[in-house]
Amino acid sequence: MTRAILTKKKLVLSNAHRFISITNLSRCISTLILAEHESGSIKAQTVSTVVAANHLGESSSVSLLLAGSGSSLQEAASQAASCHPSVSEVLVADSDRFEYPLAEPWAKLVDFVRQQRDYSHILASSSSFGKNILPRVAALLDVSPVTDVVKILGSNEFIRPIYAGNALCRVRYTGAGPCVLTIRTTSFPVTPITESKKATISQIDLSKFKEDAVSRSRYVGQSTQDTERPDLGSARVVITGGRALKSVENFKMIEKLAEKLGGAVGATRAAVDAGYVPNDLQVGQTGKIVAPELYMAFGVSGAIQHLAGIKDSKVIVAVNKDADAPIFQVADYGLVGDLFEVIPELLEKLPEKK
Ligand SMILES: Cc1cc2nc3c(=O)[nH]c(=O)nc-3n(C[C@H](O)[C@H](O)[C@H](O)COP(=O)(O)OP(=O)(O)OC[C@H]3O[C@@H](n4cnc5c(N)ncnc54)[C@H](O)[C@@H]3O)c2cc1C
Repeated sequence: MTRAILTKKKLVLSNAHRFISITNLSRCISTLILAEHESGSIKAQTVSTVVAANHLGESSSVSLLLAGSGSSLQEAASQAASCHPSVSEVLVADSDRFEYPLAEPWAKLVDFVRQQRDYSHILASSSSFGKNILPRVAALLDVSPVTDVVKILGSNEFIRPIYAGNALCRVRYTGAGPCVLTIRTTSFPVTPITESKKATISQIDLSKFKEDAVSRSRYVGQSTQDTERPDLGSARVVITGGRALKSVENFKMIEKLAEKLGGAVGATRAAVDAGYVPNDLQVGQTGKIVAPELYMAFGVSGAIQHLAGIKDSKVIVAVNKDADAPIFQVADYGLVGDLFEVIPELLEKLPEKK
């Protein structure tokens, strides 16, 4: 009997605690964003994440956390300080331990920073970087993360797509700890910033930062393709080729067209699996999500998993020789024709890029 009453009391207490934390969330919002940076600049996805943070509430403060080492980190920090007027503070963790974005030390770092300054929200973009680190942060904090957020309705209410983007799910966060979110950055475009404001930059004192004695992961190397083309995730124009291209050689036509239009190259999973291009060019549910101004698909059937990655594109153009291909259901402009005739004609008729 006594035990039953005690359990009930506990429940009441935990509910009360939950109630207090939600109310606090809506009053005082302070957000920590795990920033992604490269060669001395922060990535466009991080700025979109800042835009998303501004939807959490009117009086919210936004801090950017940059980890890494050396002069390029300090350069990125100084750029981050003026990347958006709503950023109030840039926190810099400069150490060899963060030279490469390994989830173990980085998640520990986020927890370390959170212990010193209380944050109501912790955010990162839904890139491989964010998807690798933030769920680990959430587990360390014993909270459930809300991933791939496309709309923020309030400080604790979000919309996220499910079933390859075929349904939108409204999620209310009721956890007691910080709300951990990954943001689908194509849903939070950055409008041109006119106001110039510089946030304060503080170096984090890492003398008390402890890592596991034996780190379980180790950075071995990275293979990247050097290309002048814009980044697929944030390009204004994306030209995609599918299985119908038939070979690596033929796929070069897609690359030429992308070059002429100043766009990025994308591919379907079938084209990647066939070895025409590397898998970092895959667009779709298990690849990159894009939302360019112009998306052109050549020899792409429009499978549901591919459409999951392109639906938010402003204008979709499809060229396919099958008039019943599902891609035509989402295309703004469609041409039933053979891509081996259409692409050479386009290449011939488009003016040379200046
Ligand atoms: C769990 C899961 C996740 C997946 N994730 C992804 C993903 O992220 N991205 C993705 O793309 N796919 C993904 N897929 C695969 C997806 O289901 C399709 O198999 C794939 O998108 C098909 O690629 P495709 O359109 O290039 O090939 P196909 O479906 O074979 O279509 C080729 C098209 O080319 C047309 N064609 C042929 N010759 C010509 C020509 N000469 N000129 C013009 N048109 C021509 C044909 O009419 C056809 O419509 C996933 C599948 C699963 C099960």
